[in-house]
Amino acid sequence: MMKVCLKCGKEFDEKHVDDPSSTIYPSCPDCWKEWTNYAVMVMNEMRLDMSVPEHRKALRKYEKAFFGLEKSQGELQKNPDKRPE
Ligand SMILES: [Zn+2]
Repeated sequence: MMKVCLKCGKEFDEKHVDDPSSTIYPSCPDCWKEWTNYAVMVMNEMRLDMSVPEHRKALRKYEKAFFGLEKSQGELQKNPDKRPE
């Protein structure tokens, strides 16, 4: 099945996708490869540990920003200063 890549806008054949997690966006194999390289960089830079759910969440934000799904690129959300009532 042909799909349009979110990142570059090119059509690609779903059959050529190796990584099933790339189909959630969708992303062509080239852009997915670019993202996985970028993800390694982010993980190293931010010392993300994929066994920690919070860290996985943080990486997911970068992933969305990379594919243009989220505007707040590279910015981690701060906890709102809420006082317990
Ligand atoms: Zn692409």
